[in-house]
Amino acid sequence: MSAESPASGAPAAPTDFIRDLVAADVAAGRHARIITRFPPEPNGYLHIGHAKSICLNFGIAREHGGVCHLRFDDTNPAKEDIEYVESISRDVQWLIAGWADHCLGLKPRGATPAATPGSATPDFHLAAAGAGEREAFFASDYFEALHAYAVELIRRGKAYVCDLTPEETDAYRGAPDQPGRDSPYRDRTVAENLDLFARMRAGEFPNGARSLRARIDMASPNVWLRDPLLYRIRHTAHHHAGNRWCIYPLYDFAHCLSDYIEGITHSICTLEFEVHRPLYDWILQSLDLSRTLPHQYEFAKLNISYLVFSKRRLLQLVENNLVAGWDDPRMPTLSGARRRGIPAAAIRRLASLVGVTKYDSLTDIALFEHAIREELNPLALRRLAVLRPLKIVLTNLAPGEEIPCLATNNPQDPEPTTRPLALTRELFIEAEDFAEVPPPKFFRLKPGGEVRLKYACIISCQQVVKDAAGQVTELHCTADLTTRSGQPDADRKVKGTLHWVSATRGVPAKVQLYDRLFAVPEPAASDDFRVHVNPRSLETVTAVVEPALASAQPGDCFQFERLGYFVPDARDSAPGRPVFNRTISLKDAWTAKGPARA
Ligand code: ATP
Ligand code: MG
Repeated sequence: MSAESPASGAPAAPTDFIRDLVAADVAAGRHARIITRFPPEPNGYLHIGHAKSICLNFGIAREHGGVCHLRFDDTNPAKEDIEYVESISRDVQWLIAGWADHCLGLKPRGATPAATPGSATPDFHLAAAGAGEREAFFASDYFEALHAYAVELIRRGKAYVCDLTPEETDAYRGAPDQPGRDSPYRDRTVAENLDLFARMRAGEFPNGARSLRARIDMASPNVWLRDPLLYRIRHTAHHHAGNRWCIYPLYDFAHCLSDYIEGITHSICTLEFEVHRPLYDWILQSLDLSRTLPHQYEFAKLNISYLVFSKRRLLQLVENNLVAGWDDPRMPTLSGARRRGIPAAAIRRLASLVGVTKYDSLTDIALFEHAIREELNPLALRRLAVLRPLKIVLTNLAPGEEIPCLATNNPQDPEPTTRPLALTRELFIEAEDFAEVPPPKFFRLKPGGEVRLKYACIISCQQVVKDAAGQVTELHCTADLTTRSGQPDADRKVKGTLHWVSATRGVPAKVQLYDRLFAVPEPAASDDFRVHVNPRSLETVTAVVEPALASAQPGDCFQFERLGYFVPDARDSAPGRPVFNRTISLKDAWTAKGPARA
């Protein structure tokens, strides 16, 4: 089911009802080229839910040799910011790196002036640009064009300036089971509307004093058709358009026309917009536009247990300091996932596994975790690290003596490579791998017991050393060097195999152990989701890691044997002193449950 490159011999592209619709349009020759768009509002960082939409929109363009536009739907300056524009560009580029031939708008900013439709007639469109040739699309680049379309609607008697306050407008709208009432301003003349709209634009009126509304049907069973607002007054500067405007178009007006201007063929959005579709069509059809009109299609949002996907809620986590910013590795944002070490391919794999449907559902986080492990397992270099060290003294080795060992870098490689390790008199094992009074079936180290040290030899525990308080401080053991690889007793079996790090060769490293951010499966279902933040979602330890890890670079990816997958933190690591983030533990609850529960 993977959506990976159809050309690379990977499984064929997925199918779903939206892809079927697009394929039917292609087969019928309805469009010269498929053009989709991904239209985030720059009012927060992208999350893993958005990734589903990105994979779908860019994926369809790619599968049909078309293009997908990254367009900022930036019509509400009060909540938007350039910081979000930049993070969104970065995150989209990261998620679909390698698909650039089918992406428009991913070019770093500053290279190409943003295209503005220059025509004075109300039938604007963008000249086609080649892939990779331009930076992002901004709905705000079309403000002049959108304004001209609004004027055209007024001329056609399909829009009017209304003086009701926002509260009155709400009250006049009625309820789903109750028709609304006509605004007293509904029958203004075209000349009066044109004059008032021009004065709105000129800044004559304060915020909320007037609005431009579509003239549709106050009794429509669809409340979105009850004379919806098209423009409102907002005396606010805009992060992209500057301070040229004090009236701003609403989403429903701007979106369909931005799609038209860009020549979008399939405008794919999530289910909550289904009820807006009649308005999308009404606006386009009311303008008698000359080119083929875009069509809107809806699919179900991605929801994953133990996560929240709403920029508003994610902003609350940031503002209440429940996390250390939008890119905190616990955040379900794309930048958080990247910092945590989740590969972009794992998120694309997840999108492909969940598919595209019309029904809202909750995806088990175990499926996402499974996708992460599937991507990391073939990539990650195996390394030895001890998170909570307990000292072992091998009493039959001399101080300074080094027993050479060879460790496998990745057993998943067709021809695995190795690296040298040194077994020394003093070393560390994981504290929890020793029990003085072992529970039943404890196959790790115990007094008088034996274990194998991975890649080295069998050791046996001779003496437990404690401090005055009765705490175990070190274990004295003997090493049976005849059980090393290539030695006569190499095949001698013991039940437990432990990871270890040489005390003299190992280096200390800070390790951030991340766990799920929320402690309950559906945090967003509560009145206040914040109370469900998992108090143990971050534990920081000073570990001892094998020397090869001292030179780890951001972008590297490791499996610490028996512990999980770890990456150097891109922000906190310093040269020669990496700080590691745990991406995920090794245990795969999904494989245990079986994909039948998908
Ligand atoms: P949020 O509620 O998190 O703010 P949004 O829908 O308001 O999300 P936009 O910036 O408007 O965020 O979203 C850009 C695109 O991503 C839209 O087409 C939207 O439908 C889609 N999208 C948002 N959330 C999800 C999700 N959980 N699953 C799939 N697509 C999503
Ligand atoms: Mg939104």
